[in-house]
Amino acid sequence: MKRIRESVVQALRRSADSAYEAERIDLRGPRRPDWLRVMPFGVMHLGCLGVIWVGWSPVALAVALGLYVARMFFVTAFYHRYFSHRAFKTTRLFQAVMALLGLTALQRGPLWWAAHHRHHHQHSDTEEDEHSPAHLGFWWSHMGWFTAERNFPTRYQRVRDFARYPELRFMDRFDTLFYLVFALGVFGLGVALARVVPSWQTNGAQLLVWGFFVSTVAVYHATYTINSLAHRFGKQRFDTGDHSRNNAWLSLLTLGEGWHNNHHHYPVSARQGFYWWEVDISYYGLLLLKRLGLIWALNPVPEKQLTRKRLAPVRTEAGVSPPPRPTELNP
Ligand SMILES: [Zn+2]
Ligand SMILES: [Zn+2]
Repeated sequence: MKRIRESVVQALRRSADSAYEAERIDLRGPRRPDWLRVMPFGVMHLGCLGVIWVGWSPVALAVALGLYVARMFFVTAFYHRYFSHRAFKTTRLFQAVMALLGLTALQRGPLWWAAHHRHHHQHSDTEEDEHSPAHLGFWWSHMGWFTAERNFPTRYQRVRDFARYPELRFMDRFDTLFYLVFALGVFGLGVALARVVPSWQTNGAQLLVWGFFVSTVAVYHATYTINSLAHRFGKQRFDTGDHSRNNAWLSLLTLGEGWHNNHHHYPVSARQGFYWWEVDISYYGLLLLKRLGLIWALNPVPEKQLTRKRLAPVRTEAGVSPPPRPTELNP
């Protein structure tokens, strides 16, 4: 009994402060779920069942969809392309804003996210990779790997470039605090709407369920498909030495991340759709931020990267032709 109580207290402390006793965790420990620590993840899924009691309204669906698109963008454009791959430049202030917005997706802090992702690129689809479907199966690569204690700590040595900013370290360490503030904000929006425009027939509980629980769980699983499905289903254009694939459906779902074989081929690019027909909504969003002057120096795809290690021939009406030129969308 005492041991269970100690484990619960430890899990709560680690939830409140992700650095709590992090140095005691064995980074080579077993690849199995730590059930206590992943209870909040379970609660997020159970929260979706709240739709049975709160019902729905057009405004609740609109908020859920809007928050899905916005936060998918924050994850792919900021956590992934900026913090993991430094695909563009910005100011220190906007960097902090990007970290803050990324936290609303409840996928841990920017340093934790980027450190694990850099590890994935270094060891893609090898025994070392923490989420390789080829080695660890679909479910572990989809939503198992981050439930293991060995993957809880932020591996600061992999993100030294960003770990030197105390504001980012703070957000990364006390991530749960930001999740609570976000949940409260969504709930508060519902309460305010119920008062100001009662004809919209929504309320705090309804927006909390749709905007926080349902929308967040949707962003979760869409993000995870890149680790699971995009390393299994789709086409390989480049010989990347791993199982990454290009998948148009996953690209629509994740605002451009489905061009995953392109991405493994040339990870530092700001765009993952390499041609105009490869829809990459996050990249269009980044172009907009560039136009607004908030970011700059977006890494283009150099022309030689389109032919290097190319597996798929390029077919046109005239037959097999040299690879096409990068589109004028390159900044
Ligand atoms: Zn990958
Ligand atoms: Zn990446």
